[in-house]
This record gives sequence, structure tokens and C-alpha cells, in this order.
Amino acid sequence: MRYSGPLAKMKTNLQDEVKYYLEIGDDFIMMNDLIGKDLKMTYLNQITCFCGDLVSEVFRMNFCRKCFFEKPEAGDAILRPELSKAHLGEEDRDLEWEKKYQLQPHLVYLANSAGLKVGVTRIGQRPTRWIDQGAREAIVLAETENRFEAGQIEVALKAHMSDKTPWQRMVKGEDVEIDLLTEKKQAVQYVPDEYAKFISENDEVTHIEYPVTEYPTKAKSVNLEKNGSVEGKLVGIRGQYLLFSSGAVMNVRSHEGRHVLLEF
Ligand SMILES: [Zn+2]
Repeated sequence: MRYSGPLAKMKTNLQDEVKYYLEIGDDFIMMNDLIGKDLKMTYLNQITCFCGDLVSEVFRMNFCRKCFFEKPEAGDAILRPELSKAHLGEEDRDLEWEKKYQLQPHLVYLANSAGLKVGVTRIGQRPTRWIDQGAREAIVLAETENRFEAGQIEVALKAHMSDKTPWQRMVKGEDVEIDLLTEKKQAVQYVPDEYAKFISENDEVTHIEYPVTEYPTKAKSVNLEKNGSVEGKLVGIRGQYLLFSSGAVMNVRSHEGRHVLLEF
């Protein structure tokens, strides 16, 4: 089979184990069915930005130059929620867009993705965000009314734990046992008093299983723009990473917009 078109982040569905769907052009490919099979993905040397423009290079978060510097989707508060200003009525790039995005309920969560981390996401992104990070478990620490408040809580917690996923360990399945409920009780004391009212009483721990038949013992990150292609037996998928038996691991999300040819 041959499919070609621009890549998008894999869509996911949390069942007994995560189901992954890759959209290439007009086609939807059920990636779980490809585990155990040989596949090849080749870069076709062009990139479609989310604005629709065809470009040859992109900036951080896969935005073209114009989008990166101008669009609200690439504003400071996207990667750094604590910089949100819409609650003050202050514009960064497009106040109406920023109000819609920032002034909605957000979660501050603790997750175990080969280590404890804290993160922020919009409430509707649960559990998608956790799956995209390859978390094995997650718990809600706080539910805030807007992005700024969640960002402030996250900043306070970052003094005590990481806000990054150690992806090299995660893709090798180097998981650690963490009691998230105990961690939550501990973390509550680091929440600034003015935000204590947002601490969530929901202590449910979400467990996530990934379709992985064997974890690679070494992991080498694939960059299609540099490597040109990746080829081999797919042994699993975790987070947004395709795991190959050779130890090659490819982060689909970081390749968003790249035009590829997928063959299997
Ligand atoms: Zn663009």
C-alpha cells in the first residue's frame, strides 16, 4: 500500500490500549494494524503550514515564518501558559482569539511518563494530551477557570518537579513506579494560597496502555528532513512516537506538515 500527503499528529482513542490513526491526505490509516510489519516513510521535501502555505522550512511548532511571528496560535502563552494576558483584556496578537483560547477551564495535572511531570492543558484535551506525552498514568491536580491561573500553579510546581517528558526513557519503556495520589497530596502544599480553591477533589488516576510489542533498547530519533526516510519493522507506538525494531524512533507530531510517502 502507498499513501502520500502531509503528516498530522496521530489521532488517538483511549481503549484497553490506545488506538492510533494516521491521517495522510484523504486517507486514515489504523496504525495499530501495522505493528509487526515493515514500513517505509520517505520525505517528499515540502511542508504545508497550518495556514495552508507550502513552504520549504518551518519554525518551532511547525509554523511558517509568517505564522510564527504573527498568528495567535504561535503566541507566547501557547508554550508558556503563565504568560497569558487575555484575562486582563490585554492583547498579545489577537485578543478575540486569545480570549477564546485562554478564558476556558484548564487542568493542571501530574503525569508519569517515565518520570513525574507537571503540565497544563485545556479541559477538553484530557486524555489526549496525556496520551501524546506517552504518560502511563495521570491525575488532575487542579481545575482552573483560565489558562493564566493554571500557568501560575504550574510555575510554582516546576520548582519541585519537571515539566518535561524524558522522551529517551519513555520510548525505551524505562518506566518508574510512581504513586500519583501520594504525589498529588505532596504537590497540593506547593500550590500558592490564592489558587488553593482550584485544587481538584477528583483523585481518579487514569491508566494508559500503549500498543508496544517490544521496546527498543537504544533509541535514535529520526528527523526526516535530515535522514530522508525511515524504514523497518514497527514494534510499537507510544506518545506520538513510532518505535522501530532498529531503535529508530520517529515523533510524528514534530513532523507535522511534512509531505511523506508511506509504504507498507
Ligand atoms: Zn503559515
